[in-house]
Amino acid sequence: MKKTDQTMITKNKNVYFEECIEAIKNSDNIFLASHIHPDGDNIGSLLALGMALKTFNKNVNIIKVDDIPKDYLFLPNIDLFVEPNPKDPIDLFISLDCSDLDRLGIGKELAIKANRLINIDHHITNENFGDINIVDPFASATGELVYHLIKKIGIEINKDIATCIYVAISTDTGSFMYDSTTSETHMIAADLISKGINTNNIIVNLYQSRSIERTKLFLKTLNTLEVIFNGKVAFVMLTQDMLKECNANMEDSEGIISFVRDIEGIEVACILKEYKENEIKLSLRSKNIVDVSEICFKFNGGGHKRAAGCTIFDNIKNVKNIISDEIYKYFR
Ligand code: 5GP
Ligand code: MN
Repeated sequence: MKKTDQTMITKNKNVYFEECIEAIKNSDNIFLASHIHPDGDNIGSLLALGMALKTFNKNVNIIKVDDIPKDYLFLPNIDLFVEPNPKDPIDLFISLDCSDLDRLGIGKELAIKANRLINIDHHITNENFGDINIVDPFASATGELVYHLIKKIGIEINKDIATCIYVAISTDTGSFMYDSTTSETHMIAADLISKGINTNNIIVNLYQSRSIERTKLFLKTLNTLEVIFNGKVAFVMLTQDMLKECNANMEDSEGIISFVRDIEGIEVACILKEYKENEIKLSLRSKNIVDVSEICFKFNGGGHKRAAGCTIFDNIKNVKNIISDEIYKYFR
């Protein structure tokens, strides 16, 4: 995207923030929902905005559409996530960190039913499905956008809200390492730290609490490593059998892909995760050149230039061939 586009986004964003605040003020029953396979940015952003709106005297419901990974259970007020009650009236639905309606899983129905729909996200592949869309691909995390929204509404960012936004940003920037991390990202983080959050506790919970089962799964998965295209592309795969052998869950695969990407000379890393026999979830990562969101978008997925994902319904071997053909186009 060109620089002028970035200026446009910032200009439009301020208008949309105003509309968004107006919609929030005019709504009593506000629903938020996670997306399927929720991550730190999704969960942190939902909790932060949910807590903030509750202090604003709104009836706020945060709907759980999928299991919350263990890594995030330490977050303050995690029990705000509840199962949906289809009878509840919905004035306003706010989608966070979600690029299309289908990714909301059972939350999609609630989003469609709502009188108004706000879509706040930073995925370049976002489909602008809301009545109001705050979509900024230059934001490092949806947590950044939620930070601005809460401040613009005029709600005090307390320690719990700050903790959740910090987790959203830290996890989505690979601990402030991805090139999406800007000076603004660091300024927001500095402000959050000034609220008295316990960064050490956050780091230990997020990054230094890997279970033995997860460690065994790391080893097993890394053993499948295959490097192709002159050392530029790496594949690993994870099957249901491997999960059973390690007594692990799919959420334990978190982090393996970063390890593979970090191999010297690798431009694209791919992990193939067998959720079911013919249902393979892919995660792709890149370092410098390849826009992996373009590849995943072709398979109804999405994401960012350097981190994206999709699901392909075929057996794991075929999926690997399909995706390596797509990646090969960038290295011809
Ligand atoms: P991960 O590979 O860690 O699951 O996700 C990397 C990035 O791609 C995240 O921003 C995530 O939201 C996005 N992503 C992963 N899978 C999908 C998918 O199936 N659809 C869409 N739209 N985005 C995805
Ligand atoms: Mn995100």
